[in-house]
Formats: sequence, structure tokens, C-alpha cells
Amino acid sequence: MKQAVSIIGCGVSGLTTAVVLQRQGWEATIYTDQAPEETVSAVAAAIWFPYEVHPQEKANVWSLASYLEFEELSKDPASGVSMVPLTVIVRDEADAWWTAGLPGHAIRQARPEEVPSAYSFAYRMTVPLIETQLYLPYLLREFRGAGGLLVNQKVDNIKNLTIKNLPVVNCTGMGAKELVGDSSLYPIRGQILKAEPIAGIEAMSADFTFGDAGEELAYIIPRRDCTVLGGTTGKGDYDLQPDEATNQGILARCSTLSPLVKDARIQATAVGLRPGRPEIRLEREGNLVHNYGHGGGGYTVSWGCAYEVANLLKGFPS
Ligand SMILES: Cc1cc2nc3c(=O)[nH]c(=O)nc-3n(C[C@H](O)[C@H](O)[C@H](O)COP(=O)(O)OP(=O)(O)OC[C@H]3O[C@@H](n4cnc5c(N)ncnc54)[C@H](O)[C@@H]3O)c2cc1C
Repeated sequence: MKQAVSIIGCGVSGLTTAVVLQRQGWEATIYTDQAPEETVSAVAAAIWFPYEVHPQEKANVWSLASYLEFEELSKDPASGVSMVPLTVIVRDEADAWWTAGLPGHAIRQARPEEVPSAYSFAYRMTVPLIETQLYLPYLLREFRGAGGLLVNQKVDNIKNLTIKNLPVVNCTGMGAKELVGDSSLYPIRGQILKAEPIAGIEAMSADFTFGDAGEELAYIIPRRDCTVLGGTTGKGDYDLQPDEATNQGILARCSTLSPLVKDARIQATAVGLRPGRPEIRLEREGNLVHNYGHGGGGYTVSWGCAYEVANLLKGFPS
């Protein structure tokens, strides 16, 4: 008989963890107070890049494991994953710690004509593009197809689940602040624009911040349904309302990455709170495993972290 496991959360961390545990023979139930399309995970574009993910050494291990899994998934068009070129403009090569999270063949120094004229140095990479509007429903189908049960319910007290002596995995993102009283969690507010698809535009980003407060990012992520233009990185900011002046700043910064942005026709604006933490919490306490605090790279590390949860539960209850 299969052993039961409960997962709290159905963002990318909870769904990926559930799918990995199912593959390893567990019978999984997810408890969540939001549908996948209402989560922070649904606001992301998303592209492989371990932004604001700590600690760096582990992030690279988890990012590489996820890269390889996404590469496999890209062979199935229904997954919403594809392998795309990405140019990342870098201010200081010594700070580009994340390059170690890529397979060697996937990254090279950009040629001068590939670097936008306002900048001097960039890397050219091939990375997974994870179209969240397709990928989250895909993961949910995988989960349900393997017999998974989704319960729409807020967990007010984690002891109500852990008391049964069955394993529970906490994938609640920012929700862990309240659920397990984690005061080290903080929001990293991200505002993005969704423009109508821009023909011929490629994925591009800067790996550093702009502006006096260091809260401004620049990135372009073309998807099938839209081109995502970002962004912001407001640490400690809980405001979910989009701000018009911020939109203008995003358009100006993205125009320095690609002149094609000047023709962008904006469809929508979105805001999400990335679950920031000094380190991702991935550890086991008795029958409770924590997997949250993935900052701005929850997709990038998702498979690597889910495999580690499965390892922590190997041989359960010992
Ligand atoms: C603008 C923006 C752009 C981004 N771009 C990228 C990108 O390009 N690449 C990348 O890798 N990452 C990106 N990210 C980061 C990524 O979206 C997050 O790291 C990731 O979504 C975190 O996923 P999660 O599943 O841990 O949390 P969430 O998606 O927040 O899910 C948490 C889940 O827990 C549930 N929950 C919480 N508390 C409870 C409770 N008490 N009871 C029941 N359920 C509960 C919620 O309902 C939800 O289902 C971006 C984020 C933003 C905001």
C-alpha cells in the first residue's frame, strides 16, 4: 500500500514537490488556500535564473538539477517549457556566481554585436523558459493524473496535520511567516508589464539593479501569450497595487535592452511578492519538511529542491 504524504501549498514549490513524491510512490494530498493561478507563482513569467536565492552554492546545485529536468520537459509542448536564448548583461563578472548553475555548453561570453549598445559585457545562454500560464496547469494535470487530491483549505495550525504522524511538506512561500511564525521571511515586491507579443524580441536581462534605492530591474521575457517586461525588487514592500510611475520606469529601462520595446502595447500590469529569506528553508523536523523561501528563483530551483525533499523523506519515519 502507498504511504500518504500531505503538502501545503500549490504554487510551483508545492506542485513540483507533490509530483516528485508521487513518482517515488507516495500518495499525495495538497492543501491550499489559493488555486495555482492565484499564487505568486502565477505572476512570474518565468525564466531560468536564480535571482535572490540563497545560499549560492546550494542554489547552483538545485538550479542545475532543475535545468536538466526542464530540458527534458521541453520535449513535450504541452508542458509550456521551451529552451530559449537569453542574454544577461553583467556589471561585474566576479559577481556572476550563478554561472556555475548552468551546464557548460549552455553559456558563453556574448559577442560585441550581441551586447545592447548601452552596456559593455554580457553572457549568452540557452535556458528554460517556463510559461507559467501553461506550466502550472500542466503540473496540476500531472498531479491529478497520478491520483493526487487537492483540498481547497487554509491550514490554520500545522499541528492539525503533523499530529497524524504522517509526513507533511510545508511549501507555503510567504504564508510560512504566519503558519510557522518565520520572522526571517520578507516580501520582495515585483511589478511587471504584460505587452502584446513583440515580434523578433529575445529574452534579455541585467543581473544588477538600477536607481538610487536599488529597487529597479530590467528584463524582457517573450512568451506565447505576451511579452513580459520587468521589473522591480522592493524588499519589505507588501503593496500589491501596481504603480503607474513604476510602469514608465520599466518601459524606459527595457528600452535600453531592446529598441523593439518602444512599440510595446501594454495589456496588463501585475504585482507579486517573492518569498525572500536569508536562506531557502529546506530541512526536516520530525515528520515535517520545510521547502519555502525561494525568493525570485522558485522555478529555477524547483526540481532540485523537490528531489531534496524526497531524499529527506526516504525511509520515513526514520
Ligand atoms: C514578478 C515576479 C517575477 C518572477 N520571475 C521569476 C522567474 O523568472 N524565474 C523564477 O525562477 N522565479 C521567478 N519568480 C519567483 C517565483 O515566482 C517564486 O519564487 C515562486 O513562485 C515561489 O513559489 P512557492 O510555491 O514557494 O510560493 P507561492 O507561489 O506563493 O505558493 C504558496 C502556496 O502556499 C499556499 N499557502 C500559504 N499559506 C497557506 C496556509 N496557511 N494554508 C494553506 N495554503 C497556504 C498558497 O495558497 C499557495 O498555494 C518571480 C516572482 C515574481 C513576483
